[in-house]
Amino acid sequence: MFRHSILYFLYRKLKYAYLNDRSPLVASIKVTQRCNLRCAHCTWVNRITTDMPLERWKDIIDDTYRRGCYIIFVEGGEPTLRDDLTEIIKYIKSVGMLCVLFTNGTRGLPDCDLDAVWISIDGSHSSHDITRGEGTHEKIMETLENNPDNNTFSMTTLSKTNAGDIEELCKELSATSLNGLIFNFMYPYKGAEGKNALSTEERIKCAQQILKLKKDYPKIASSDSYLRAVGQPDKSCYPWLLLMVTADAKITHGCTVEPAEERDCNQCDMMCGLESSLGFELKRDSVNFWKHINIDTPLNVDLVPDWALRLINGRKI
Ligand code: SF4
Ligand code: SF4
Repeated sequence: MFRHSILYFLYRKLKYAYLNDRSPLVASIKVTQRCNLRCAHCTWVNRITTDMPLERWKDIIDDTYRRGCYIIFVEGGEPTLRDDLTEIIKYIKSVGMLCVLFTNGTRGLPDCDLDAVWISIDGSHSSHDITRGEGTHEKIMETLENNPDNNTFSMTTLSKTNAGDIEELCKELSATSLNGLIFNFMYPYKGAEGKNALSTEERIKCAQQILKLKKDYPKIASSDSYLRAVGQPDKSCYPWLLLMVTADAKITHGCTVEPAEERDCNQCDMMCGLESSLGFELKRDSVNFWKHINIDTPLNVDLVPDWALRLINGRKI
């Protein structure tokens, strides 16, 4: 399976460097926008209430493969609300792509072969429940207890609500069966969704705290390169690496902010764009971050000398 290999990543890297190929690498598909929760910050839930049938999603999955993607994130809404979720996941795997389920974790996990599971956990017990609803943290803990062998990661989006809670969160989650802890920063959208977003100075402070906490909590999976880039004006982002499909089949190829409003990269530290871009720039620790998704690694990037990485980069990107 060439696309499961880091060699595919390097092949795409060379195609960009020498042929200016800007095809997407990572797709996220909102297989439903229905959700069992009503999180304070959410702008997606129930914007679309009808789910497209399985056959339509199979066509879309084929299309993402043809465009060059090697990973699909299956998300929502809450994807586990779909009765045919396992069929969608099996289809993604059958065409040769890696599959990550992105869930709120309150409804258990599907019984099928996933490369990784990302569960939204927005703080320690109390701050998570403020954002996501009373009792939701406990349900996630049940899901983790019942599924100890999945390749499961927490995804924490930091905002004013949970920024003071980082160490407590690391302590709590490190004691669970989670394989790793991933951090993200809320984007300051102009509407209700962004009002809790942190200022640049606050984001930098949080990122530096997480960098320090890595010594005591080795499950923290976010790369040092990402955390050091947070809040910096000159950080790299290649938004064309990403493709998003909404529940009514609208495709966005590029920055996920732009369909909603004009983007402000100086205020953006979202991990989806930055961790992908840093990996694409062959920052060693970001490449290693993406390896958690069962990517075959015949090539250990740590053994590749700097001159070879410069050659693969081809030109300044
Ligand atoms: S779990 Fe996700 S989709 Fe559901 S309400 Fe919360 S943020 Fe929105
Ligand atoms: S707003 Fe964020 S995701 Fe969009 S191009 Fe800028 S840095 Fe990338």
